[in-house]
Amino acid sequence: MTSRSTSHTGGFLQRMRSGLRRSMPGGADHSLRRKLLIGTGIALVCTAILATSVISRSFDDYRRARQNLRELENYRLILDTANLLSAERGPSNSMLGDTGATPELRDRLTAFRARSDAILDQLSTAGVPADMLAPTKAQLRKGRREVDRVAAIPRSMRGLADVQSVIESMFAVVDIFDSVIAWKAGVLTMQNPELAAPVMTGRMFGQLREYGGRIASQIMAPIAVGQPLPLKNLVDSNRTRGRINQLWNLTGERQIVSHNDVRLLTDLRDVEELFFGEGLGLLDELTVQGRQSGNYSMTADEFTVRFVKTLKPLERLRGDFIDLTIEQLTERRNGALVTLTVTIAITAVILGILAGLLIAAQRFVFSPLMRARDAVIGLAEDRPQPSYPEPRHATEMRRLFDAIAVLRRSLAERASLTKKLKHQAETDGLTGLMNRRALDMIGESHTSSQVMAEGVCLILMDLDHFKSVNDRFGHLEGDLVLQESVRLISPMLGSNDIFARFGGEEFVILMPGCHLDEANALAARLRSALEANEFLLSDGTALTVTASFGVAKGDLGQLAWRRLVKAADAALYRAKSDGRNCVRHSAPLYAPLVPDLGDLDMEMPVQKTSILNDRR
Ligand code: GH3
Ligand code: MG
Ligand code: MG
Repeated sequence: MTSRSTSHTGGFLQRMRSGLRRSMPGGADHSLRRKLLIGTGIALVCTAILATSVISRSFDDYRRARQNLRELENYRLILDTANLLSAERGPSNSMLGDTGATPELRDRLTAFRARSDAILDQLSTAGVPADMLAPTKAQLRKGRREVDRVAAIPRSMRGLADVQSVIESMFAVVDIFDSVIAWKAGVLTMQNPELAAPVMTGRMFGQLREYGGRIASQIMAPIAVGQPLPLKNLVDSNRTRGRINQLWNLTGERQIVSHNDVRLLTDLRDVEELFFGEGLGLLDELTVQGRQSGNYSMTADEFTVRFVKTLKPLERLRGDFIDLTIEQLTERRNGALVTLTVTIAITAVILGILAGLLIAAQRFVFSPLMRARDAVIGLAEDRPQPSYPEPRHATEMRRLFDAIAVLRRSLAERASLTKKLKHQAETDGLTGLMNRRALDMIGESHTSSQVMAEGVCLILMDLDHFKSVNDRFGHLEGDLVLQESVRLISPMLGSNDIFARFGGEEFVILMPGCHLDEANALAARLRSALEANEFLLSDGTALTVTASFGVAKGDLGQLAWRRLVKAADAALYRAKSDGRNCVRHSAPLYAPLVPDLGDLDMEMPVQKTSILNDRR
């Protein structure tokens, strides 16, 4: 039995299948996926463009802030160098004072010189070209030689001009180095106009410290040699003071107040009190003494030590100002770094969400849709269905698969019902054998080439005088006899033989691929078995029943089947005519190449019959 659908169901499935094939491939799913891909792609590109511009801007900010910071640190180093070169004048001047070159003073000078040399060497690594530093170094060597030369002259023999020349050659060192500061300030301002203000202010604070030191050195020579202050020194000193005031007006208060920083405000107060108050006050006092008599109230060394102290707030002011600027730049750099990091993180999140949406759409929508499509086509084509894992997360998809499961169940119910109906339509209710209708379908159908080549045998069996069984014992007992006959015969048949009820008390055994002899032999065995069997009826009566057999050999197929049945029927007719309870066969329905001698040798009564005169 096959599980083919009825023609009605088949038509429905056919329509469904062709409908699916028409609508599914390249249909709604494809276009929806494409739209989503294009939409997401555009969103990705837009996000990328936006992110690139924001990221590149914040990266530029970060890079600029970092570079500014580095440059400003280098600039601070240069200003520190100028400061140390100025500071070296302190112990140098002291060497020329009345106390002379004491070992402590000599040590201090050595330490100051080492500090200056070290910072000058450091400048080369901070990007200042060596040839730009060379003149400063040369002048420094010259100045130091001059200091050492004059310091070696006994104090009584040291002239004002000697001391003055030492001081001026040390001034020249700072003057020459100023070109390095100017160069660096120019480079920084050019590269970064926003650095112009702090660079200029830092430079002016440096100059303030330099002039602060210089103003003392300008009256130092007469003090060192204990002579009255020449007019030239006074003029120089006043000029320097003018510059100091000018610089202070330009930078000092305005810059500091604008920064509003506690450190700078403290430095400002200290500069006012110490430098402008104490330091310049001391200078004025010595200037007056120098102009009046040349009898100074303190030695050059004492003056140096006391005056240098008042310069400290100026140095601090410059240092703190640059530090503050560097702190601001560091903050800006860190802020830019935070912005950059946050922008990159947000961009990554947006891109991640978009990619995630795309993957989720593919995984939870499109893939399940394609599986659902396969499942529906599979159901329509009656293919065995793989069990799909329940799609997770997407409720809509779960509902779709629930609907497919409902469809699958109802199709399965329908198939089983169809199978049952088909079975009923092809089975005889009383005996459970195949009925005439089903037998005719097999007989009329084309079959395998082997069966076609070897042919089939048909045994037609008819119970003898069965009407009288009914008449004597009733129809129910007759039914029982029919059922028992089937039960008796069934086990005697081959596995390929088809046993069917032909109608009433007539049965058929269809034997594919067998010789007529075999069929005759089987019929003979069945006949004997029936004859020998005693049917036990309900009332205990034992009944013997015989049957007549008509055997024929032929082919399957629409016309051949009818011929075969007709031939077997004719043989059966002969058997009845010959007194029943016997086997008869018809001549083969096709001409064998070699005559079948077995036909002539059969022991049982044989009657050759022709198809034309086989009427009962
Ligand atoms: P013959 O030897 O010539 O075949 O005589 P017969 O009586 O067997 O033949 P006939 O064709 O005259 O009668 C067949 C009888 O079989 C008639 C009918 O009552 C009986 N019959 C047919 N189908 C059934 C059935 O399903 N149950 C019962 N109990 N009897 C049936
Ligand atoms: Mg009959
Ligand atoms: Mg009969």
